[in-house]
Amino acid sequence: MKNPKPYQLVFLASAVILVFYLVTFCIISLIVNRHIDWLILILPALVLFGVSFFAFSVIFKKYIRDRIKLVYKTIHTLKLSRAEKHLKVSLKEDPIHAVSEEVMKHAVQQHDELEKLRSQEAYRREFLGNVSHELKTPIFNIQGYVLTLLEGAYKDPEVNKVYLYKTEKNVERMITIVEDLEVIAQLETGKLSIDYSTFDIVTLSHEVYDLLEDKARQRSIRLIFQDGVGRDTHVLVHADKDRIKQVLINLIDNSIKYGKAEGRTKMSFYDMDENMLVEVSDDGIGIAAEHLPRLFERFYRVDQSRSRNMGGSGLGLAIVKHIIESHQQTINVRSKPGVGSTFSFTLAKGNTR
Ligand code: ADP
Repeated sequence: MKNPKPYQLVFLASAVILVFYLVTFCIISLIVNRHIDWLILILPALVLFGVSFFAFSVIFKKYIRDRIKLVYKTIHTLKLSRAEKHLKVSLKEDPIHAVSEEVMKHAVQQHDELEKLRSQEAYRREFLGNVSHELKTPIFNIQGYVLTLLEGAYKDPEVNKVYLYKTEKNVERMITIVEDLEVIAQLETGKLSIDYSTFDIVTLSHEVYDLLEDKARQRSIRLIFQDGVGRDTHVLVHADKDRIKQVLINLIDNSIKYGKAEGRTKMSFYDMDENMLVEVSDDGIGIAAEHLPRLFERFYRVDQSRSRNMGGSGLGLAIVKHIIESHQQTINVRSKPGVGSTFSFTLAKGNTR
């Protein structure tokens, strides 16, 4: 019998007792030369079989339960009283097999958890390293400017204003980094709830264009819409208006920062059944294919110095991705160096009622 079930073992043990009883009875009858009365033989035999089956079941269950109790208690870190719940030993099943399966499951779970903790730890270390690295540059710059001013440059009307202006720029950069970090932290801890409403994405895009108009003008970049979209075009979407405004600001701001002089940023809207596809495209410097997969990672930059000179925190696209994903929507990028980039994301359509 390969892998016998507990009840088969109990049955076998009871049968052994029964056979032993029958043989003993027959031998004694033969010795005392008495006629074997089958009724006297069978009735006690049945009772004996029943009693031994019951006794073996109880002993077997108790034996198994005592042994697996400790295993359950350990793998589920339960109190003994709570572990009892797991200890319904059925004689029709193989309890040892069930326990080994649970132990295996537990081992896999522990392994996965350990891997998760390890990667979280690595991420935490990398993140802290990045943050301190990002903050170090403006802090040292500020220290340099202040020291130079203290050492006498403050008396020189030629440079004192320039140094103060540069100090202010670096303070501004630190503020951007800290504010973006705050948003990332809120998004990652899930503290930021999505406040859905139905609004017109074209009107919102006009608002963001107005907001960034000066910056675009400084770089001679035109902010335009696809043909056919004007002030009287309305495209309703269902999303968190403030968060989507932040997405548009980040994408349009990037299209200006990484755009080319005399270039243009264009916004387009496409109907896709349940969703609207919103596109922000530019004809700027573009991004090489090898950078695209990592573009939405925190602090990932294609050109470190260009991004820093432009006052970027390196967190803008990470924030954008978080926001779009918390709407259960997707964002993509297509880009070609020297030709331009297109960032496109989906949003649920708003109903017109
Ligand atoms: P940053 O603050 O550096 O702009 P982002 O997260 O917004 O950070 O962008 C990450 C990097 O992606 C940028 O440093 C830049 O190299 C690249 N990038 C983003 N948008 C564009 C774009 N429209 N054109 C070219 N490169 C871009």
